[in-house]
Amino acid sequence: MPFRALGLGDKIFQAIQEAGYTEPTPIQAAAIPLVLAGGDVIGIAQTGTGKTAAFTLPILARMAGMINDGTPRRTRTLVLAPTRELVVQIEENIRAYGKHLPFRMATIFGGVGERPQMEALRSGVDIVVACPGRLLDLMDRRFGDFSGLQHLVLDEADRMLDMGFLPSIRRVIRKLPVKRQTLMFSATLSKEIEGLTHEFQQHPKTVQIGRRSNPAETVAQFVYEVPGHLKPVLLTHLLQDPKMDSVLIFSRTKHGADKIARRLEQAGIKCGTLHSNRSQNQRLKALNEFKAGTVRVLVATDIAARGIDVDGISHVVNYDFPMHSEDYVHRIGRTGRANQIGDAISFVGSDDYGSLKSLERFIGRGIVRKKAEGFDYNQPAPPRLPEAPRGPRGGGRPQGGGNRGGGGGQQRRDSGGGGGRRDDRGQVGYRFR
Ligand code: AMP
Repeated sequence: MPFRALGLGDKIFQAIQEAGYTEPTPIQAAAIPLVLAGGDVIGIAQTGTGKTAAFTLPILARMAGMINDGTPRRTRTLVLAPTRELVVQIEENIRAYGKHLPFRMATIFGGVGERPQMEALRSGVDIVVACPGRLLDLMDRRFGDFSGLQHLVLDEADRMLDMGFLPSIRRVIRKLPVKRQTLMFSATLSKEIEGLTHEFQQHPKTVQIGRRSNPAETVAQFVYEVPGHLKPVLLTHLLQDPKMDSVLIFSRTKHGADKIARRLEQAGIKCGTLHSNRSQNQRLKALNEFKAGTVRVLVATDIAARGIDVDGISHVVNYDFPMHSEDYVHRIGRTGRANQIGDAISFVGSDDYGSLKSLERFIGRGIVRKKAEGFDYNQPAPPRLPEAPRGPRGGGRPQGGGNRGGGGGQQRRDSGGGGGRRDDRGQVGYRFR
């Protein structure tokens, strides 16, 4: 089905053409007509399937088609998302697709000064894209006018639940008009997500694309068995391959990410780091340099496993094997996006065999084991790293948004008790058990 047949209007169609899209992705073809019809929709789709446009395009079309009632600008669309990076990315998408429309927009998230956000809300904006915690904070102080809200989107709803945003989301939604269109997007359809749809949606239609939890078909997946002490040497060895020209490396912890980055820099490989101990500006800088290709390696925690959309990531490396199979799917979804080719490499030590087995069950296939060519598996461990320098990369003081991850300041309090270790989202592990 061509985009033109979806009836999104000339201005949006022009923007789509300028974005270089030739035809809708499956989630877009399925969801756009339902959203245009005005009903509530649950979208279950793999990462990188084009789901942002699946809700943005028809909402913009509906907004463009509705007559302005002459009242000062009230917010008509609210998109809630779990992390600052995702908020910024959704905003970039809306800006691109709505470039020929007159709408004004604000982004709201924690870890940065609130004044510009307050001013944006006070001046009146048509669309707000926000992390729930900071938004609630501002709404409680009577910023923003949501009395005319028509469209609510909960993006990455499963992740927002994981991050403990549910109480904030409930309180935000209580302040919105009951009569509205509510769209919910999630990578998986769990009991909790079903609970949310009962709570916030009316007679929703479900659109499910692809097999649940199925990693993008375009990603080739490999496992390298390697003892923990040789992981840094194997990484620098692999990175000598010029085909690894845009590489996203995942570490389980912030401290671990800093250590990997120091090892790489010691080996003369320039890299950026992205985790929640870094300030908002440092995170944006690292991401922008990686996007621009001036830095070919980015070391990140799972904070980057969702939402990050960088064209042409050639390789994702799971330096630490993810604790949850869902995280694996999200991590490797950073490559092979929009049908490009990508490789996902996972380092696996003897402690990880159990997790690897569960992952293979989860994705319904085995992953190819590989040996690195020309790599000496019997070499001794590399010398210990010198003491970390004090400062932003030294694993020192949290900066900016501190440990908030989603910028809202709610989830640490809301993340519940129980066992399990805390990861970079400040949350308790073993969420899906
Ligand atoms: P998303 O799943 O929304 O993060 O989108 C993944 C990537 O697909 C983004 O880089 C989009 O720009 C791109 N994309 C979205 N829709 C299309 C389309 N119809 N054709 C080609 N690329 C698309």
